[in-house]
This record gives sequence, C-alpha cells and structure tokens, in this order.
Amino acid sequence: MKTIFILITLLTIAINTQAKRPNILFIFTDDHGYQAISSYGSNRNKTPNIDRIASEGMRFDNCFVTNAICGPSRAVILTGKYSHLNGFMTNGNRFDGSQQTFPKLMRQKGYQTAVFGKWHLKSDPTGFDDWKVLLGQGPYYNPPMKSEEGTKKIEGYTTDIITDLTLEWLKGGREKDKPFMLMCQHKAPHRNWQPGPDHLNMYDDIEMPYPETFWDDYKGRSEAAATQTMTIANHLSANDLKLNQPKNFTTAQLEAWNAAYTPKNKAFQEAKLEGKERIKWQYQRYVKDYLRCVASVDDNIGRLLKYLDDSGLAKDTVVIYSSDQGWYLGEHGWYDKRWMYEESFRTPLVVRWPGVIKEGSVNKDFVSNLDFAQTFLDIAGVSKIPDPMQGHSLVPIFKGKTPEDWRKSFYYHYYEFPGAHSVRRHYGVRKDHYKLIHFYNLNAWELFDLKKDPNELKSVYSQPDYQEVVKDLKVELNELRKKYKVPEDTRPVKRVNRKPKKQEPAKKNK
Ligand code: CA
Repeated sequence: MKTIFILITLLTIAINTQAKRPNILFIFTDDHGYQAISSYGSNRNKTPNIDRIASEGMRFDNCFVTNAICGPSRAVILTGKYSHLNGFMTNGNRFDGSQQTFPKLMRQKGYQTAVFGKWHLKSDPTGFDDWKVLLGQGPYYNPPMKSEEGTKKIEGYTTDIITDLTLEWLKGGREKDKPFMLMCQHKAPHRNWQPGPDHLNMYDDIEMPYPETFWDDYKGRSEAAATQTMTIANHLSANDLKLNQPKNFTTAQLEAWNAAYTPKNKAFQEAKLEGKERIKWQYQRYVKDYLRCVASVDDNIGRLLKYLDDSGLAKDTVVIYSSDQGWYLGEHGWYDKRWMYEESFRTPLVVRWPGVIKEGSVNKDFVSNLDFAQTFLDIAGVSKIPDPMQGHSLVPIFKGKTPEDWRKSFYYHYYEFPGAHSVRRHYGVRKDHYKLIHFYNLNAWELFDLKKDPNELKSVYSQPDYQEVVKDLKVELNELRKKYKVPEDTRPVKRVNRKPKKQEPAKKNK
C-alpha cells in the first residue's frame, strides 16, 4: 500500500513537472535594427515595451545572423542550420518543409505550436498546430492571410492584426493544459514603411539626428561598398517616400493618410530641394516612417505583455524579442541589410524568463539566430535532436553560466547576388574585435579592427601591422567552413540531399 502511495506521489510530481514546462512567446520582426531600440541606446526613438523585456531579462549585445536577409534567417531559425544545409540561401528559394524543424520536435514533446504573421518561406508552415500567415511580404494594410481554411483578407493595420490573432489564440485558441510555443511574427518595420493610423504624425515636429557615417564616400574598402544600390540618396522609390497615394486602402484609411502626407508632400514639391538638402529630406521621410512602424510594433508588444500579466501567464512564459536581421537607418548612407558590416550582421535579442534570467543583465557572448532552435528545444526539455543542428542552446547563458567552450568566432555567408540592392556575395569571420570579409567573386578582402574603427570605414587588410591577424583569421575561417560543412563551390545550390524523414503524426497540417 505504502509503495503504491509513493508511486502515485512520484507520478503526480512527474506530471506536475511536465505541466510546468515554460511557455515560449517568440515575438519577431522583420528588419528591426538595434539602433532603433532605446535599450540598445537609440538616439532616435523610444521602445518602452521592448525595453521592459530587456530590463526584466537579458539583452544580448552580440547576436549575429548567419546570412542577413529575411527568408534565409527564418529558415536558419526553424532548422538550426546554416543556409547551405537547410537549402534556403536567398529569398528566391522555397523552404523544404519536410525537413527537421524545432516546432515539429516540440510538438512531439507535447508542446502546442502556433505561428501568426509573416512567414515568407514560400511553402506553407509545417509543424504547427495552428497558423495564419501573410502571403509573401504581405502589405501593411488590409492583409490577405492564409491558413488551412484558405486565404481571407482582414481589414486593418497588419501589426495590430497579427497581435490580435496572437491574443485570440492565447485567450481561446490553445489547449490550456499544454505548454505552448507561440510565434508572433510581424511584417513591420520592413520596406515600404507604412505607418499605422495611430502614428501618422509622430515625429512631425522634430529633426531626426544623422548617423556619423551618413555621408560615407565608401573609400577605404573594396569596390563592393561603393557598387551597391541601397542608398537613401539614389535608391528610394516614390512609394518608399510616400509621394504616391497608397493602394488597397479603405476610404477612411486613405483620408487619414492624405491628411498626414498631402500637405507635407506639397511643401516638398514647392521647395524643389536639390543635392544634400534633398538627400536629407529623403532621410527624414524614410527614417520617420520606419520609426513610426517600430512604434506600432512596440505598442503591440505592450498589449502582449499586459495580457501575460493579467492572465497570470507571465511567470511561466519565456518572452523573446528579436528580428530576422539588423538594418541600416542611414548608416553609410544606406537603408536595407545584407552586409556582414555591424548594422545588419547584429540583430536585437532580448529575453525575459522570470526566475531564471537575472533582471537587467547584459550579455556580450557571440550568440546567433543559429542558436534559437536548440534554445527552444532545451527550454522544452527535448534532449535528443535526431538530425544534429549547428548552434548551441542559450539556456546556460540565460542562467548566467556561459560554457567554457562557447564559440569565440563566428562564420557568416551572404549569397544573393545578382539580386536586389546589388550587394556582392561574401563570407567572413568575426573573432575578438576583428572582422575578415571575403567578397569572393571580386576576389577582394577586407579586415576591420572594430576597436579602432567601430564604423568599419577603413579596411586594414593590406597594412603590415595586421598581417598576423589576417593569417590567423584565414585559418579560423577555413576551420569554420569545414566545421559547418560549407561546400567549396560557393554558388547557391537548390537543395542539399538528405534522407527522407519519418513524418511526425500530424494533428492538423502534415
Ligand atoms: Ca528581414
């Protein structure tokens, strides 16, 4: 009798422990540079709700992406593998949803998984109990959204809608006895930066500061930096600059829009600005619209945090905020991403986990979107990953205990050339405060000493003082390429052959 009682007690403890596995709310944006987050020191905007996650949790100052472009970053996060192994190297690829991903493994372990918002991988989501996603990039207003039931247009502002869907699922869509992995993925603040109705006139009365490198002349680096097509001076369209009326708006949306932009556009046409004055006007228009989109994201994160508080879920839920890569807000005279230069290579990452992460902590280890999958799986208690991933769980770092053998260098590879914005293909390595980049189709190398030149304006690759560093970093680069199984042939491949995987028992989607 006593033995049975003990067994029942142990079983109850086991069930309760199982039930107490934390939920994960992963809030993800598209193209949000750390320079536009106040906890990262923005001098242009305030993001009180993202800051709250940071101040109640941990801010990561060296979170690098493996390939700074939208779709590829998402594929890396799902698979925990570099682009050359997950098969999604450029935005032109289609994600092979039959491969191993973290949501599938979490479902097998009893987690309920859901994704709402931007997906951007061409194929439909797999491994999710529930999903509703934008088609491709998706618009800022009145987005058609696809689910298993088909595609339906939803009226409103996309950032608000994605949050509404996330909240609806939290409140009534999920099975309350299961832990969840919920991904709330915004289109914002991706191009073409259409602000929401609440923020159309935000920042009207101020002039945004210019980054130190705004007037960069691209000397001191290889020809790659000078031959891109992503400058604020020459490569913003009339739609980007809101000189055209938007399409697919409702009458009320268009009225609000016209009230905000028409008088300003008229003043601009009359001013006939030229040269630097025109470039400055374009920067102000661009950066303000971008930051207005960020303001909506931050407001909506506030709604999610409030719900977690009000519902009592906050204490059992890990909240993560990140973006698919960093972004240029006028640094080097640019918008967009793609480069291994800091602004796009580094992405924001803040994580709150009550009782585990020390409040207000800051971490400077080299972490990456390559680590996200294994981190989620570790949190969920998945100890066996059938097809090995290439990152490392961040959970020990969350606990303030960086493993002794944590990575000291990081490999990067961007493939999309020819392509939008004409950024040359390159790979490279970051180690200590050095960064070595190889634009291999130009056979051009760059080396930056980030201590002396944090803005990466002058390559020291050919300087005699740095030849030992060059030698060391080339060895490191080759070792990393071997370690991560990077093919010698650097041309994009369509698909890496792999054994067909046994399908998980699917509940809704296969
Ligand atoms: Ca992106």
